[in-house]
Amino acid sequence: MSPRPALPSSVHAPLPVLGREVLVPLVTGGEVGYAALDYAASAPALQRVWDDVAAYAPYYGSVHRGAGYLSQLSTDLFEQSRATVAEFLGCRPGDQVVFTRSTTDSLNLLAAAVPAGTSVFVFETEHHASLLPWREADVTYLGAPRTPAEAVATLDRALAARAADGPALVCVTGASNVTGELWPVRELAAAAHAHGARIVLDAAQLAPHHPVDIAELDVDWVAFSGHKLYAPFGSGVLAGRADWLRAAEPYLAGGGASRRVARSADGGVDVDWHTTAARHEAGSPNVIGAYAIASACRALTEAGFDLLVEREQALVARVRAGLAEVPEVRVLSLFGDDAPRVGVVSFVVEGWNSSHFAAALSAEYGIGVRDGLFCAHPLLRTLLGAADQEPGECGAPEAAPGELPDPSAGGAPTLNA
Ligand code: PLP
Repeated sequence: MSPRPALPSSVHAPLPVLGREVLVPLVTGGEVGYAALDYAASAPALQRVWDDVAAYAPYYGSVHRGAGYLSQLSTDLFEQSRATVAEFLGCRPGDQVVFTRSTTDSLNLLAAAVPAGTSVFVFETEHHASLLPWREADVTYLGAPRTPAEAVATLDRALAARAADGPALVCVTGASNVTGELWPVRELAAAAHAHGARIVLDAAQLAPHHPVDIAELDVDWVAFSGHKLYAPFGSGVLAGRADWLRAAEPYLAGGGASRRVARSADGGVDVDWHTTAARHEAGSPNVIGAYAIASACRALTEAGFDLLVEREQALVARVRAGLAEVPEVRVLSLFGDDAPRVGVVSFVVEGWNSSHFAAALSAEYGIGVRDGLFCAHPLLRTLLGAADQEPGECGAPEAAPGELPDPSAGGAPTLNA
């Protein structure tokens, strides 16, 4: 492998991420500046987000729980953050913005809030966060489409063939974390609504790269994560229609979600739950996380998505062109090479186990990539063919509590930059 090339200044990030270069040791001796190419998994927070959080940190206090000055300040900032996110997402009057821990948490919250008897439709190509939360619902898993038009036609057919006439919900990603390909969200939303179904958009990968406008896309809910939007870990958003959220049991029960609690005549308790977003935000909220997400939303908006998309597309083209020159590399795609996409590229390297390859990139070049099956096992099975499969991974390596993971455990076959 040749030494790691420097990026030309014309494609440097328009939004600086957190500060200093991180030097990492190389097995070949010496150190090199770390090249983090795994932003699709988690992006470093923007310098500006850290600065905003640092400026606020000395002043933070309890939210919605006190008349003290700092408590009032924190409550204001928390609610202003909600308004900023609502504006970032183009929310409609009456929509709710619920702060959660992540996209996974947001979709599990919605899954817990769907009315009884809801039929859920989800493509098998989804990230597990979209694929798995619907355990209580009647789920139809739709096969992998090979074009965006086929995705719309598949959904349309499935909804038309639906036997039940109760509520229906479609869950779809905006941009794949595996192929980077954009899904036809507007058309899927139109198909869903034409059959009286609702739709939730998993915008975990879309929101950092493109404007997401709930009203314009005409989706019912949007979910995304702070840590992929250049904010720190630990905060996410579910935004959209209030009715199902208001009617549902609180996601967590506790203080903050309850307006009034009294002992009941039968010896139990009567609870009057909030009907606002607070209903699903029980416990002391993550005000710093919400503030950080709002700061990231402002930073992206001010930088301008046009500029971000232009820079990103230059980078993607460069990565894809470079990979195309290596005969052993196969870039993964569901919709084909010309499909519109965000800056996510996954590939296999013939003859290499992906975790070994990723380890070599790190140890020899200081390049960080994501390896494995990217929490989208059925999609990878389609893209690779069953014969290519190795035991998948997603999340923490398997180890008994308190044990260190086994470093010799096998990896999986793809890399993602
Ligand atoms: N959806 C997509 C498309 C993703 O890429 C991810 C994370 O990789 C998620 C959902 C889940 O996000 P989180 O891990 O922040 O809950």
